[in-house]
Amino acid sequence: PLVVQLTTAEHKDEVSRYIERARRQSEIERTTAERDKSGVFTGSYAINKLNGERVPIWIADYVLMSYGTGAVMAVPAHDERDFGFAKRFDISIKVVIAPPDWSGKELTEAYIEPGTMVNSSQFDGLPSEQGMAAISDFIAEKGYGGRQITYRIRDWLISRQRYWGAPIPIVYCDRCGLVPVPEAELPVLLPQDAEFRPTGESPLKYCDSFVNTTCPNCGDPARRETDTMDTFMCSSWYFLRYSSADYKDA
Ligand SMILES: [Zn+2]
Repeated sequence: PLVVQLTTAEHKDEVSRYIERARRQSEIERTTAERDKSGVFTGSYAINKLNGERVPIWIADYVLMSYGTGAVMAVPAHDERDFGFAKRFDISIKVVIAPPDWSGKELTEAYIEPGTMVNSSQFDGLPSEQGMAAISDFIAEKGYGGRQITYRIRDWLISRQRYWGAPIPIVYCDRCGLVPVPEAELPVLLPQDAEFRPTGESPLKYCDSFVNTTCPNCGDPARRETDTMDTFMCSSWYFLRYSSADYKDA
């Protein structure tokens, strides 16, 4: 969203053409590691508060709005994608975490393992894990920013249109709408008399003894949900039973 403000007049046409192109691609296409990196310079720079240096701001389609804040501080020497990007666009690759036997030469690929901090002024010489913590503390002390956890978790569609799976315990009532099956009536079991016919739909849908039920709320005739849960719903916790093998009431 900040792209418009960040792009200088000189780079405006090129940036809008690039965004138009990126919009036509899927996230999977955009983030495949093997793919050739593409990007465009905005003409603007960010100031690195720690050393006062100017950092060029680029638009690149492998950075996703849905992942984190949509902006990243690239670290070309220590991230494979950033390395590829910097190589492609001739951006300087500054080593800040030295490999154990580093001779000071240019890297031929990103070094993503722990190492020793270099080119990092007062943090030089620290093991990189300690260095990260020390820099984070320093940034917080100075009031430049702070630590934040970002998630990339997404909604997961668990319903499946097939017989095998735990039935989703929901009842549809004309009067009450969507009614969850009360806990005392769980689990909803799969019917034994479902017929497997080549309808292209779940056999549960055609199994009257399963579909037809009464509303747990008002007692009127109602219909069961016929979608079942994705198998991962069950396989994610079934092993917990092994730790309660002597429990007889489950
Ligand atoms: Zn009802």
